[in-house]
Amino acid sequence: MTKWPVHASWNGPIVMIGFGSIGRGTLPLILRHIACDRAKITVIDPSSSWSHLADKEGISFFKQDITKQNYKSILTPLLTAGPEQAMIVNLTVDVSSIDIIKLARETNSLCIDTVNEPWPGFYYNTKLDNADRTNYKVREDLLEVRRKLGIGPTAVSCCGANPGMVSWFVKQALLDLARDMKVPIKEPTTREGWAKLMKRLGVKGIHIAERDTQRSKNPKPLDMFINTWSVDGFISEGLQPAELGWGSNEKKLPYDGKKHKKGTGAAIYLTRAGADTRVRSWVPTAGAHFGLLVTHNEAISISDYFTVREGKRVIYRPTCHYAYHPSNDAVLSVLEMFGAGGRRQSASHILEEKEIVDGGDELGVFLYGHKKNAYWYGSQLSIEETRKLAPYQNATGMQVTSAVLAGLVWAIENPRAGIVETEDMDFRRCLEIQTPYLGTLKGVYTDWTPLQGRGELFEEKLDRRDPWQFSNIIVR
Ligand code: NAD
Repeated sequence: MTKWPVHASWNGPIVMIGFGSIGRGTLPLILRHIACDRAKITVIDPSSSWSHLADKEGISFFKQDITKQNYKSILTPLLTAGPEQAMIVNLTVDVSSIDIIKLARETNSLCIDTVNEPWPGFYYNTKLDNADRTNYKVREDLLEVRRKLGIGPTAVSCCGANPGMVSWFVKQALLDLARDMKVPIKEPTTREGWAKLMKRLGVKGIHIAERDTQRSKNPKPLDMFINTWSVDGFISEGLQPAELGWGSNEKKLPYDGKKHKKGTGAAIYLTRAGADTRVRSWVPTAGAHFGLLVTHNEAISISDYFTVREGKRVIYRPTCHYAYHPSNDAVLSVLEMFGAGGRRQSASHILEEKEIVDGGDELGVFLYGHKKNAYWYGSQLSIEETRKLAPYQNATGMQVTSAVLAGLVWAIENPRAGIVETEDMDFRRCLEIQTPYLGTLKGVYTDWTPLQGRGELFEEKLDRRDPWQFSNIIVR
């Protein structure tokens, strides 16, 4: 039997909202690594389909929908039950992360979530224009709250695998690049220092490059959306406009690319759905492949964090975006949904660990455009390894739940940091906690560029002088 380390202790209430694929996988990790009183843990979810897993651990389960109208009245008594400070773990879809963070502040609680979610009515609101349906907008709202609230109890925003862990990978990848390029450096200790290091190493951009190869025993039936994590979450982000952190290296906006009028200016959006937009990318096992340009917070926060300014002028910023090849069943599901005009299938299903025959999740950061061409650094985690590590999750889930664990431990160790994104956290400490759950963690160089194999059978308008222009990466 593995002897797992206890990383932290927590004496107050723990309130977990959402007991879906991520909540169910996170609970055993909390119980394993954080010394706490089970009697003070409450799990809340409107569906009791999985409540037996909480019962089995002696944890209270509360069958309840959390809404804009009731969240304060339901959560406040739980968070103030005392006598110690409480902690809120927000793993729902459809519950406003910002309102939960504000409530955490009012009740002096710590808080963590994996996505900056709005209340229902945002993602599919045809009355909002595209700019207002972006993650840029949702993040700007959070940054505004951060400015207003200032320092206080820690609230970790967007701390899953991605957004989340991948921002820690970027820092590790930069140190690896400096080592391999023999650039003498001192490890940066500030945001400005990290941004200058990325500029100095000549990184033009970053893909969050993921390939999920988990395969189900059962072929996908017609009219069913299958995924390896939240179907609701994937469809809602997939129908937001495609978005990317827009780097200083880019020569030309895409024809349907739009800039924002306010805020950091770190990202642009395209006037089309992210899950219906393909980009060329690369991961070690599959090599070159198509990923989906689904909007994600980290595409914006990484570009923003690694921006170098002189005065107000941006002199360097990396392009950054997600290039997501979901499981084959999810690819088929996306195709089926967009083929039907974006109408969602009548059934949905999240692949459970026991129905997956093989495969895994290869999730990393792909830093390109520097002297060594391109470098992927990330986690290769198989379903077989996942089964041995912890219960109730597949490989995708494990990369997320272990990041939540790392974020929780970091928050306990840094309880007065205010609202933070994962770029603001100690990447070494977080990866130290998370690494045992990531399978093989490694870096791989490649000579692949998005020009490989292009313009041979068909003429294409390519920028051959700079292979790493986004115009070469996007599939028109
Ligand atoms: P899921 O769909 O499996 O589960 C969500 C759960 O939330 C469900 O059990 C549902 O009943 C519950 N829920 C829905 N509305 C609720 C409400 N109003 N009040 C209380 N509970 C409610 O989703 P999941 O795969 O567990 O994902 C959870 C969250 O984590 C989603 O926001 C998802 O986008 C996010 N996520 C983040 C990452 C990352 O890497 N950052 C990865 C995967 C998932």
